[in-house]
Amino acid sequence: MRQKTFDVIVVGGGPAGASAAYTLAGHGMGVCLVDKAVFPRDKLCGGLLTERSRKAFDTVFNTSWQPAVEGFSRGMRFYYRDRLLNEVKDYTNLTWTRRTLFDAHLVDLAKSNGACMRQGVAVKAVEPESCTVTLADGIRIEADYLIGADGVNSIVAQSLFGRAFDKKTIAFGLEIEAPLGGRLQDITDPEIYFGVVKWGYGWVFPKQETLTIGVAGLWRKNRDIKNAFRRFVRHRCHGMPQAKIKGQYIPFGDYRRVPGRGNILLCGDAAGVVEPITGEGIAYAMQSGYLAARAIIESAARRQPAAACRYYAAGYASIAGSLRWANALRYLIFPKWSEPLFVSLLPKTKSVPRKHLDLMAADLDYNEYAQFLIRKTGGFLFDSVIRRSPGQRRRALK
Ligand SMILES: Cc1cc2nc3c(=O)[nH]c(=O)nc-3n(C[C@H](O)[C@H](O)[C@H](O)COP(=O)(O)OP(=O)(O)OC[C@H]3O[C@@H](n4cnc5c(N)ncnc54)[C@H](O)[C@@H]3O)c2cc1C
Repeated sequence: MRQKTFDVIVVGGGPAGASAAYTLAGHGMGVCLVDKAVFPRDKLCGGLLTERSRKAFDTVFNTSWQPAVEGFSRGMRFYYRDRLLNEVKDYTNLTWTRRTLFDAHLVDLAKSNGACMRQGVAVKAVEPESCTVTLADGIRIEADYLIGADGVNSIVAQSLFGRAFDKKTIAFGLEIEAPLGGRLQDITDPEIYFGVVKWGYGWVFPKQETLTIGVAGLWRKNRDIKNAFRRFVRHRCHGMPQAKIKGQYIPFGDYRRVPGRGNILLCGDAAGVVEPITGEGIAYAMQSGYLAARAIIESAARRQPAAACRYYAAGYASIAGSLRWANALRYLIFPKWSEPLFVSLLPKTKSVPRKHLDLMAADLDYNEYAQFLIRKTGGFLFDSVIRRSPGQRRRALK
């Protein structure tokens, strides 16, 4: 078994790993980026990139993301089952991509910045004490630091904490790529569907040659999610398109409070940094990959490898803070009792969907959004129940 030595091993070449490898290599560190897949590779994903993602991409790569994206929309439609509740037009860009295209571009950027890549070979074992990984072809790689950016089933997270995630707290998502044509030809803005799964939502996202149709919801509340998905697709597409259904866990709501240990850091889905209301993960993957790399650069400069996780925790706190607020907000948005409230409120408001998009663009903090929603729903309840005449109130409550 040959042994190779690097400054840093990054396991996983998705947005988290590519961002980390790009940043580290740009600082002259010897990086080995390992991925079990050969790029371009597919990844189950809606491929919707918010302005938060664009800002994260700019921070990490400081170049145009044009070669990595397919198109954009300037609006979004919100439905409850088949009822259109609200539509936002002329908003800032919501960009879409195919992950085959996006992730391959990020990996190319990391390689051209000096990262060495081993692809098509999985990491089969991790020895955290010696910071060594063993690949499926028997080669062992040793480094001063290890970054686990290997997605939701992270072998690096398992080596540190015994398991990658807790099934009771995370979500499951299903998708198909439906070919464009017939009644599906004219969909150019993303569509969001509430009421099709519990504690989650359905979506239809446009692409150049397909529509990505999916649902995701908390696994423990949606054991029958495959049937819910089939019902949703049949209804939206007026039949079941010829396309393979694919599914995967999404770690939303289950972020790591401590994202690693000593010189081993977790980022992206491996750290569970997925926003639990929208399911957005690409922005947080790039942000956390970048922050993990910066922490390693700082700890290497101070010759304190074991302090890397402590340095990382300082930057990671801003992501964890947003996810903490988002986790709490779910208890206002998703429970059964709040469904009728939002179904009545959404058609009557311009500000709620716009503020939601402001949040996705990182123009609004989660705590500001929470305060806004509490004010708005409280005011709406006051208007529709308390300020009405006794007759109106009786009718409204029927
Ligand atoms: C159905 C669905 C829809 C989604 N839609 C959106 C969306 O529209 N917008 C959005 O922002 N987010 C979305 N997400 C979330 C988003 O896909 C993830 O948060 C994001 O991909 C996380 O990036 P990552 O780099 O952490 O992990 P990944 O992109 O999963 O990359 C992990 C990499 O690690 C590699 N790997 C894994 N194990 C090993 C191993 N043992 N050895 C070597 N390599 C390994 C894999 O091959 C992979 O390339 C969606 C997720 C799902 C499931």
